Amino acid sequence: MKELQELCRKNIWNLAPYSSARNEYSGHEAHIFLDANENPYNSPYNRYPDPLQLELKAALCRIKGIPSENIFLGNGSDEAIDLAYRIFCNPHLDNVVAIEPTYGMYKVCADINDIEYRPVLLDENFQFQANKLLAACDEHTKIVWICSPNNPTGNLLNKEEIIKTIEHFDGIVILDEAYSDFSNEKPLRGLIQKYQNLIVLNTMSKAWGCAAIRLGMAFASKEIIDLYNKVKYPYNINILTQKQAMEILKDPYQVEKWVNIIKQERAHVMEAFRSLPICEKVFRTDSNFFLAKMKDAQAIYNYLVNTGIIVRNRDKVKLCGNCLRITIGKKSENEELLAALRQY
Ligand SMILES: *Cc1c(COP(=O)(O)O)cnc(C)c1O
Repeated sequence: MKELQELCRKNIWNLAPYSSARNEYSGHEAHIFLDANENPYNSPYNRYPDPLQLELKAALCRIKGIPSENIFLGNGSDEAIDLAYRIFCNPHLDNVVAIEPTYGMYKVCADINDIEYRPVLLDENFQFQANKLLAACDEHTKIVWICSPNNPTGNLLNKEEIIKTIEHFDGIVILDEAYSDFSNEKPLRGLIQKYQNLIVLNTMSKAWGCAAIRLGMAFASKEIIDLYNKVKYPYNINILTQKQAMEILKDPYQVEKWVNIIKQERAHVMEAFRSLPICEKVFRTDSNFFLAKMKDAQAIYNYLVNTGIIVRNRDKVKLCGNCLRITIGKKSENEELLAALRQY
């Protein structure tokens, strides 16, 4: 790996971050706060939230097994994705490499930040080779994007190839594990302790059932997390989000139950798809969705919309011709979908 200073944009490395009132005060017991121009009325919403979300990070540390100092919290994973560009990539000059197809936000954020995006096609099994990704890199490649389990394909990527990429790339590897709770394999986030150039993304939006509160996280070395904290908006996670996240984190068994039900339903729905005459192939998945190759994806998609059921048409995505992406819903919802498809 190159030195972090060499990978980081110069203006960010030299940045003096905004110092908030609550930043400057710390330690002493205090009971009167006249430092932040807040209104003394309308508690608790009158007060600025903790800029570093330490209570929430302590709770996440217990569940994720990652120390608080190695956690950044963002307004969804989207913030962690966008900030990665703003920290590491010089517009017009640097580039990033990513597997293709994958989650659309990596490219959108590259375009917003005016960074060249280099997609590298997966093979027909939706797997990748580290050598191919590395061959697309040059001295201006700052980030390699890997998503596992991948969206929209659903599958886990080969662990040996992921590690090979991390070990041989001299820049930052970002591994998005948004769906790892739905996989039977162990997540790789613990590898941030071993590899200083690895950032792992997680989200509260999927297994934790909290897409509405917008809370995503990045796990990485303390040095990388410090860069994230320097660049983020001072109060990027609002108090409502922090409170609701604390609530859901109190009940990890509820989440485990949801995940188990969803995995059971997934097996059932996939089996039913295999026996549909209009379905040509069901791809293996480690996520709360799966990809199905249909006889005519667009026509089936339109038909489902007319019955009030929305799935995701991925027909135009590379390697996903005629594929629909089906999210696993409640049992009753899945049954309605299957009944509609049997009547097609
Ligand atoms: C859904 C999803 C996310 C979650 O994004 P949030 O902004 O946290 O809601 C992240 N990565 C992938 C690959 C996803 O599919």
